[in-house]
Amino acid sequence: MLQDLRWKIRNLLRAIFLLDPEFLCDTCRYNYGNACTRPERPNAECCPDYRRSGE
Ligand code: SF4
Repeated sequence: MLQDLRWKIRNLLRAIFLLDPEFLCDTCRYNYGNACTRPERPNAECCPDYRRSGE
């Protein structure tokens, strides 16, 4: 929940400043091979399975 809010704020700020959107998958530990089969991949903005890579 708090993580979702953080990403929404972050993406909102990116949109305001016309920066490229950043997706959760870009930093997710499951974003390789067949580790994730979610349809949102690779452009998930909200994902209950998201785990930050390296944590
Ligand atoms: S678990 Fe979610 S955030 Fe991670 S790669 Fe899959 S769709 Fe993307």
